[in-house]
Amino acid sequence: MKRSHFQFSRGELHAEKVRLSTLAKRLGTPLYVYSEAAFKERFYAFKKGLRPLRHATICYALKSNSNLSIVKMLGEWGAGADLVSGGELERARLAGIPADRVVFSGVGKNRDEIAAGILYQNRGIASFHVESLPELLLIDRVARALNRGKARIALRYNPNIDAKTHPYISTGLKKNKFGLNSEEISEALSLLPSLTGVSLVGMSIHIGSQLTSLRPLRAAFQHLGREVLRIEKRIKKNLDFVDLGGGLGIQYRDENPPSIQNYCAEVVRAFGPDSPFRSRLRVLLEPGRILSGNSGVLVSEVLFRKVRAKKDFLILDAGMNDLMRPALYGSYHALEPIQEVHTRGRTKKTDIVGPVCESGDCFGSDRPVAISLAAGDLVALKSAGAYGMSMSSNYNSRARPAEVLVSGSRWRVIRDREQFKDLVRGEHL
Ligand SMILES: *Cc1c(COP(=O)(O)O)cnc(C)c1O
Repeated sequence: MKRSHFQFSRGELHAEKVRLSTLAKRLGTPLYVYSEAAFKERFYAFKKGLRPLRHATICYALKSNSNLSIVKMLGEWGAGADLVSGGELERARLAGIPADRVVFSGVGKNRDEIAAGILYQNRGIASFHVESLPELLLIDRVARALNRGKARIALRYNPNIDAKTHPYISTGLKKNKFGLNSEEISEALSLLPSLTGVSLVGMSIHIGSQLTSLRPLRAAFQHLGREVLRIEKRIKKNLDFVDLGGGLGIQYRDENPPSIQNYCAEVVRAFGPDSPFRSRLRVLLEPGRILSGNSGVLVSEVLFRKVRAKKDFLILDAGMNDLMRPALYGSYHALEPIQEVHTRGRTKKTDIVGPVCESGDCFGSDRPVAISLAAGDLVALKSAGAYGMSMSSNYNSRARPAEVLVSGSRWRVIRDREQFKDLVRGEHL
């Protein structure tokens, strides 16, 4: 990307043209702030990169950031939705995502979720990505019971490729719970003629998240291409689409992930006009993090500096319940003071922690932080737009942050800060 949409200007960190300090003052902290221009730049980079394909759809992975305003905005630009639950299906519905752009992945879809997918907008979603044989049988049963025509399905292929990412977000290895291996696919194909409730229309893969090399992706696309040809021969019918999943990584620190342009070039090489498929297959992608990750920050206030001889603790009002990634994966988020003066001057080794009663509630250890940064100052945890708010919880009975979407010099609240009454809704005394 050319430049961040979160930059210093006149001594203060901004989201586009809006001072983060203004938003913090008006709306309180912790606060998630997103940049519409950041989403737009990345989404349109995909559109441009996929132009050589005859029919491509960018199915935004809702789980990375499922705020309704974000999903609706992407939908208006032409995005579809990649879902992993019935809850996300309801979000896609509210955001107005058309049925032919919705795909449903996940290893544990239940009967109600499958029925909701079949009934979606009266037409049913574009595809259930089948992850096991018992799931295939269940989709068939539910579809026959509903009697609304055949449910469109794809088989999610697990190509046994090491995505070389964190084990918790690697999904394309034999030992992972995701997808079907070659033998299971063969078995599914033998079953298909007897399953009158489903129609096999595509194949999908998703080998992992935060991938910083094209190599495993290229290998996965090739494996998938071969598998498609094998299947088409066997069922004597052409498939409609391939879904290449998501997983493109972003820069949190010093990673050097492939550009969207180079990623799309790889997709075009594998399935475009000059590939063996000559662009006859519709291509679906499921990007999440690459669209939302660097499009958001978490703004927080320093509550205290706990001064120790060797190492200080900077205690923020944001905690692991608001941004879970560091506690869950040990992942890195850059800390940026909102007043530029604190980016200069003497630093001291500091642990940046939250208020939650867990030692794992730590956003960063041994960071060099300006000693001038103290109680009352504001900071931004960068790259927090993906798997931030969507993974947040109420642990320690903490109300979750508000969310704001900035566009140029305008901004609007896209989710209210939670109130205590939201936390106890549904509970009984
Ligand atoms: C999580 C997920 C995605 C999105 O992954 P990113 O790394 O955020 O791009 C796409 N497809 C499936 C099936 C997923 O589970």
